[in-house]
Amino acid sequence: MNSLDRRTILTTGALALAGAAASVPAAAQAGPKSMFPVPATTIPIVGETDVFQVRRIYCIGRNYAAHAREMGSDPTREPPFFFQKPTDAIQNVAVGSVADHPYPSLTKNYHYEVELVAALKSGGTNIPAEKALDHVYGYALGLDMTRRDLQRALGDEKKPWEIGKSFDRSAVLGPIHPAAKTGHFTKGAISLALNGAVKQNSNLQNMIWSVAEQIAKLSDAFELKAGDIIYSGTPENVGPVVKGDVLLCKLEGLPDMSIKIV
Ligand code: MN
Repeated sequence: MNSLDRRTILTTGALALAGAAASVPAAAQAGPKSMFPVPATTIPIVGETDVFQVRRIYCIGRNYAAHAREMGSDPTREPPFFFQKPTDAIQNVAVGSVADHPYPSLTKNYHYEVELVAALKSGGTNIPAEKALDHVYGYALGLDMTRRDLQRALGDEKKPWEIGKSFDRSAVLGPIHPAAKTGHFTKGAISLALNGAVKQNSNLQNMIWSVAEQIAKLSDAFELKAGDIIYSGTPENVGPVVKGDVLLCKLEGLPDMSIKIV
């Protein structure tokens, strides 16, 4: 084949491709269509019609000294550690409602953990703690629900504690409040009441690793992106629920969040 022939073929091919592209509907040009719809997981934003689409759910473990001690570890020597929940583990709870939360399968020791949740609007890697809060879009009040018996048993066996932490509806939270309106949450009372009796009662200042430090540490391990949310750890006095129990979570500066175990 001489060079002229080759050029002719290439040109013809390019024209054929261009012609094909022009005749295909615009929507199909984005790529193959999914076989079935997978709904996006979203969280309502207070005061906005837009919603917050969740990309990943990160959680920090043992981030209050007194809770670290009750879980059997030494808070003075432990670097932060993280785990994830699946994106669709989210259960949204509307302000002013008491959302039904089904008692999950497999566990006989189902625990509450009230936590501040930070929602990111941007991300990156190796983010310095001093710049970390620039990536926070807003905050929510959340519950990191836990099958404690399975978490402990799997941990004791040095197996992943996945089914103890990362199951359906295990990431409960209220709507996101933009930090532009609330400011950043570096201090403030956080509490949880079970059937009207206060069980967890602490202050965000008691976190071992601040939200900014958590973002910095996480970004050393993962590229953080818009849509990531971070459960920032629970204070001491976690405990069990049974069907019929009502949990009321409070964080200074945000509306209450409440669920009923059904
Ligand atoms: Mn937790």
